Amino acid sequence: MSRSKTRFQSADQGPYLVSDELARARRQLLELSPGGTRQRPLEVSSAAVIEPKAEGTLCPRCSDHFEVEGHEAPFGQGVREVKVHCRFCDERRSLWFRINAPS
Ligand SMILES: [Zn+2]
Repeated sequence: MSRSKTRFQSADQGPYLVSDELARARRQLLELSPGGTRQRPLEVSSAAVIEPKAEGTLCPRCSDHFEVEGHEAPFGQGVREVKVHCRFCDERRSLWFRINAPS
């Protein structure tokens, strides 16, 4: 996996809004995945990969990539909340990461 900040761009097909029903299902799926909730943070080896991973997450409403708005680490134990925002449809959510540095 590359460490560079990859931006996926497709020339012919931009993001588009899906139905509310599908968006709801996709949000649930995101919440069941690691990183979707505070209780289930995605384990990463270093803080440097948090932002690329957050930006690689697709918006459940329009499948555009999220943009990182800010980091917070209010919960101790290395858990970070990353606030992300979709520029296309204005969806906002938090993604959760835990830094699990090899000792
Ligand atoms: Zn979106």
